[in-house]
Amino acid sequence: MDRMRFLLICAVLPLSLIACSQKVTEPERAPATFKAPATIAEPAADVHFHTKNFVQEGIRLSEVIPILDSAKVKRAAVFGIPLQQNWDMSTGVKPGYYLHDDQELYYYSAVDAFLALEFQELSEAQKPRLDPMIVGFNPTDGRATDHIRNMLLRFPGVFSGIGEFSIEKEVVSSKVAGRNANINDPALDNILRFAAETGLVVLLHCDVDAIISGNENQPTYFQELSELFARHPETTIVWAHSGLGRFVKARPEHTKLVAQLLKKSRNLFIDISWDVVLNQLLDGEGVLLPEWKEFLMENSQRVLFGTDVVAPKSADYAQLVGRYHGLFQQLPEAAAENIRIGNYQSIFDSARRKIRAWEMANS
Ligand SMILES: [Zn+2]
Repeated sequence: MDRMRFLLICAVLPLSLIACSQKVTEPERAPATFKAPATIAEPAADVHFHTKNFVQEGIRLSEVIPILDSAKVKRAAVFGIPLQQNWDMSTGVKPGYYLHDDQELYYYSAVDAFLALEFQELSEAQKPRLDPMIVGFNPTDGRATDHIRNMLLRFPGVFSGIGEFSIEKEVVSSKVAGRNANINDPALDNILRFAAETGLVVLLHCDVDAIISGNENQPTYFQELSELFARHPETTIVWAHSGLGRFVKARPEHTKLVAQLLKKSRNLFIDISWDVVLNQLLDGEGVLLPEWKEFLMENSQRVLFGTDVVAPKSADYAQLVGRYHGLFQQLPEAAAENIRIGNYQSIFDSARRKIRAWEMANS
């Protein structure tokens, strides 16, 4: 854990950002200047739904279904969070969110088994709506693939992918116990190769830039990411938030750089999840920024809708999904349909077929 780095970040961030980042179970509300959410008329598929938070509290999969219904979301990729924040009782501070203090985070593998057991309790009508994902592995561990393999073979018929797991993530990475994951880690290559072999969809969080970037020419992690994606052309990777975040902001050339990566790697996709990232795609009136509109129209087959909610309540969820529908309505119908649901269906339907076949062949 790098305590100095955490304190430095806290010192340079505006207090308002720290304050607004403390919400856990509900998405941030849009500034008052945003237009009211669009009505939700069309079905969608959410590629980014966390059922648990950083202290492994949250909702069960049976509770996810009515929340999806509240926003006409037909399908969702569902997963916990790989990390649990340690509560050092000698300090007297019981953490509720990873930004509250600098106690360590550690990998909590039980999260995947709990998710699988919850999935098995669903009705046969509910199960096809969810794509559970494996997250409880340490991406610096050469044996991470053993955990993924064990989950697939112990719970056949359940999982569709791995993630969201993080390599470089603002504020979080420096708090993870042990060695920080990095983009060139051979263990990460191992994981991505195994995903290609089994057909698992990978939902990867890796910031494109450092919070305070020392590189004026290009985002800090862009080159290494580009090489990582190029090394794994057969792995279906959804790059969460296209590398943006609460503090990692899009440079003016961001959409051009992402388009370059998509052009080079045919199995690479991005999601536009997280309310703080959605805010970077829209102006203060809720209108899509011209560079994003052009990017989404040209790359609509490579972009997925997602919310990145963490154990939400139904009203919060429907409100956030409504804001995304406001974005979809500014795109031509065919492009909007791809992003809203079409890409999700083709990626996950194909993944399910491959994984079930792998499970049969290896059981
Ligand atoms: Zn997430």
